[in-house]
Amino acid sequence: MRLSSDWSLTLRNLFLPIYCKQCGERILTDENGYFCATCWERSPRIERPFCPLCGRPHVGAVGMGTRSNFRCGPCSATPWDRPYRRILGAAVYDGAVEEAVKLLKFHDKPRLAGPLAELMGNIAREELDCAAYELLVPVPLHRVRRRERGFNQSQLLASELLPVFPNALLDESLERIRPTRVQSRLGNEAERRANVQGAFAVRSNGEVRGKTVLLVDDVITTGGTIAECALALRAAGASAVDVLAAALAMPHTARAQSG
Ligand SMILES: [Zn+2]
Ligand SMILES: [Zn+2]
Repeated sequence: MRLSSDWSLTLRNLFLPIYCKQCGERILTDENGYFCATCWERSPRIERPFCPLCGRPHVGAVGMGTRSNFRCGPCSATPWDRPYRRILGAAVYDGAVEEAVKLLKFHDKPRLAGPLAELMGNIAREELDCAAYELLVPVPLHRVRRRERGFNQSQLLASELLPVFPNALLDESLERIRPTRVQSRLGNEAERRANVQGAFAVRSNGEVRGKTVLLVDDVITTGGTIAECALALRAAGASAVDVLAAALAMPHTARAQSG
């Protein structure tokens, strides 16, 4: 098996060379079919210390000796009143990870769900009580968009992540019941909130009542979409909702194509 996959890789490299989408270097290993190891490693991961509520990293404090998380300014200024308990992100929406998310969802590269889910699984194992989650729920696409794209990127991520959560099932009873516009193309907070307000619901046969849910998303910008998803899950009886995302858009990278 190993031999044949080495052979197929050798043959592919010979006849169909592949190049890193970030730097253009030729890729000679099969670990990640789109980015070289250097670009992938260099893409900024979220590491301690970060805010235990919104997940934003304290960039200036990384490497300063403290590994203890603490709340960021905005999260300490107001009481936490969101329908989810916390957000955990694996990487900053920048560099190769940003490119990977865009290729995954806008350029039909579902294979990139693997490397992205690997980053998510790594941080989840370190930071979450993985055995506590009973359902992994992907942020849904509206059925029309899902049909156009052929897949839901968050569903692919959630499927890849299942082995990390020993007691969790994949649950797709959360639905986007009306089409929404791309959040990043809307001007302000109020417009974004109105865009996604009431856009999600759990199907009546949903199994979420009383369950501890991990909501899975590809990239989070303002958090409007996940807040609406969490509200719908709580309304259907979920006992708690946490959020795991591949990437968090920081204010300076707020070009994210999601919500
Ligand atoms: Zn590269
Ligand atoms: Zn925060």
